[in-house]
Amino acid sequence: MAVSSTPARAQDPTAPAARAPRRQRGEGQWALGHREPLNANERIKKDDDPLNVRARIENIYAHGGFASIDPQDLRGRFRWWGLYTQRKAGIDGGRTAVLEPHELEDEFFMLRVRVDGGQLSLAQLRVIADISREFARDTADITDRQNIQYHWIRVEDMPEIWRRLESVGLQTTEACGDCPRIVLGSPVAGVAPDELVDPTPAIDEIVRRYVGDKAYSNLPRKFKTTISWLVDTPYEANDIAFLGVDHPEHGPGFDLWVGGGLSTNPMLAKRLGVWVPLAEVPDVWAGVVGIFRDYGYRRLRNRARLKYLVSDWGIEKFREVLEKEYLGRTLLDGPAPELPAKPIDHIGVHPQRDGRNYVGAAPVVGRVSGGQLAKLADAVEAHGSDRVRLTPYQKLLVLDVPPERTESLVETLRGIGLEARPSAWRRGTMACTGIEFCKLAIVETKARGEELVARLEERLRDFDADISIHLNGCPNACARTQVADIGLKGQLVVGPDGRQVEGFQVHLGGGLGMAQGQTAGFGRKLRGLKTTADELPEYVERLARRYLAGRSEGE
Ligand code: SF4
Repeated sequence: MAVSSTPARAQDPTAPAARAPRRQRGEGQWALGHREPLNANERIKKDDDPLNVRARIENIYAHGGFASIDPQDLRGRFRWWGLYTQRKAGIDGGRTAVLEPHELEDEFFMLRVRVDGGQLSLAQLRVIADISREFARDTADITDRQNIQYHWIRVEDMPEIWRRLESVGLQTTEACGDCPRIVLGSPVAGVAPDELVDPTPAIDEIVRRYVGDKAYSNLPRKFKTTISWLVDTPYEANDIAFLGVDHPEHGPGFDLWVGGGLSTNPMLAKRLGVWVPLAEVPDVWAGVVGIFRDYGYRRLRNRARLKYLVSDWGIEKFREVLEKEYLGRTLLDGPAPELPAKPIDHIGVHPQRDGRNYVGAAPVVGRVSGGQLAKLADAVEAHGSDRVRLTPYQKLLVLDVPPERTESLVETLRGIGLEARPSAWRRGTMACTGIEFCKLAIVETKARGEELVARLEERLRDFDADISIHLNGCPNACARTQVADIGLKGQLVVGPDGRQVEGFQVHLGGGLGMAQGQTAGFGRKLRGLKTTADELPEYVERLARRYLAGRSEGE
């Protein structure tokens, strides 16, 4: 990939801003001269680069055990290596907000493995499965950001886990924390018949250059990226998105979007109106991250995502700063990409451009085990493939399947709990980690999601519409509450006997990746639209039946 020169300011956060720093009571922006940490999170990052904690884990904590871990490392810097303490079993959601962090956590960790672009080789899949069975009590959830997420990890085992992951080119570097997270990519990059440019080289180059680079390891908050020719990732919900577009004069390239993010105060990414050729994607990406690092708000954590800066500046100013201060050149104007009528999840059997097939299969709410993944690896190999992809909808694909072996693979996957012809309910339901392991959770999600799917499959077996149901264990929206047909936000609600019980606030009618003319947007949150968790299956069934009775022809 061509590497163009990057201005010093984009590489060195300590380089002076092109504009004279102005000191004003503001949002803690470095570029305006605010270098003193304004809150505890900023202090932890300034005191020691979080990437440095890896050496302490390997040299001190792995030998001294959980009790030897410095609290600032434990609840702060560990995240930069994909590690969060997990929730102690048996603490109900009503106590989430009142207990101190150390009272909520046990001595085990959640560990996220980044799978940039969602791309896994057979060797990588086998290593992931082995680690799950040896060190993670057989857990290996597929997250809605194409990561693998383990639970029950002990700090003592981290050096061996890293050794095994890195022996096959996998890493946990910056899988969490205020830094560039996993880069989402199309699960069918490089094989889709309608893809004009495979963006994988740009994803690889960004990871190679910038992940683990201390020039980008202290951002105001997390930074989410997606790069895809097809509209098959939730691009509007990312801090930066590159979407494929064919420029009438310059040919295939990428359309740039910035400032998307859900959680509190959700905002959809906005088009900058520029066309970026593949070779320039890494530099433009670094420029946008540089803006976020230098101008992003650091005073209040709940105002620290890039979306607030984009919202305050507007697109014109954002583009101007990117071009003048970070790239040193103007970008070409570009056309808007064509957007499909609905998000593409790749479930089922589909032809590749080389004449072979890919098979998209659904676990239930992203929950898979190491044992399942080991069987998947055997099935993949037995059917002549050595490539698997994870999707941002908690599903997986097997690539490169010869046509004559495809039905056999579909049957084999079914036998290990991965369904290539799932019901609409199984296909469309996602769930975040929830109260089983997440310290912020208020309600259970994975088991509720599995129960919900089973119940709806039994009661509404022939439901024939596409539907998305996203269960979230708290208002944080990790499973994208606001953009589902039925978004469920975990909270305590009043139960039948007047006491508080687990439940959900319901958002209806959200959507992403919608065609022009239909607006992508957030589900309507109506006052009083709530259900207890126990009543959720009946509630969704009623909604579905009402929808079926009232839908117009062709809907
Ligand atoms: Fe945890 Fe809440 Fe995110 Fe679910 S939405 S994983 S409960 S923080």
